[in-house]
Amino acid sequence: LKPLFGKTAFVTGGARSIGAAIVRRLASDGASVAFTYVSSQNRAEELANEIEASGGRAVAIRADSADAEAVKRAVAEAVNVFGAVDILVNNAGIANLKPYDQFAIEEFDRMIAVNFRAVFAAIQAAGPQMKEGGRIINIGSNAADNNPLTGASLYVSTKAAVAGLTRALARDLAPKGITINNVQPGPTDTDMNPADGPYAPIVSGSIALGRYGKASEIASMVAYLASPEAGFITGASINVDGGVNI
Ligand code: NDP
Repeated sequence: LKPLFGKTAFVTGGARSIGAAIVRRLASDGASVAFTYVSSQNRAEELANEIEASGGRAVAIRADSADAEAVKRAVAEAVNVFGAVDILVNNAGIANLKPYDQFAIEEFDRMIAVNFRAVFAAIQAAGPQMKEGGRIINIGSNAADNNPLTGASLYVSTKAAVAGLTRALARDLAPKGITINNVQPGPTDTDMNPADGPYAPIVSGSIALGRYGKASEIASMVAYLASPEAGFITGASINVDGGVNI
């Protein structure tokens, strides 16, 4: 039997990159998956069709994470379609890097809204309907603990906030038998951070394993944390970073 047979998952930012790898992996582990997108409508529909064609269930929902109410509505829609959300994965994120004195305050608000407020909103929407065994998995960043880049003040702050939220909510959620954890990817080859992109020369030397991670390697940890096997892990921030933070 597939480990997530009978489970339903909700993934933010699931149309491409790490999010798409998570959607594919949870679906191949047997979960029905709803996922959000904001700009990648075609890729979202293609991914949902791909999963349905291979015998799974997937639904793409447009929801801008900058809009907390839209995120809550998307969770409610997923609950409507599947009857429940058992696994919530907060993956959607943006990295706006620039010198700290050049950020407009609107850019501060947007970084906080997408990378942190939306995470809280999704948890508020999904948590109360979760049953014993529910799983919340946030995608933070290893940079929350160890950041080599200049210009990352807001990005790192939002990811540190996600780690703090994860620790604190573990206490709130534990009495209901729900776990919450924070996967902290290191440099991972995606549209945000291509292995041949502008950050590569700065970060590559610090990756002990000497290469960028693959999106599927982040999805592997998410799948493990989502599975019944991971029932004794909560409040943790787990680096999947090829040994950057060592
Ligand atoms: P990408 O930029 O490649 O993809 C971003 C994803 O987030 C897309 O699916 C995008 O959707 C979605 N997204 C962005 N803004 C919004 C929004 N306002 N509303 C809804 N969805 C949105 O990023 P990665 O896959 O690399 O990153 C995924 C997560 O992993 C992020 O939280 C990131 O911070 C984190 N991370 C990544 C690392 C890396 O090296 N790649 C390292 C550490 C952490 P759409 O296409 O529809 O716009």
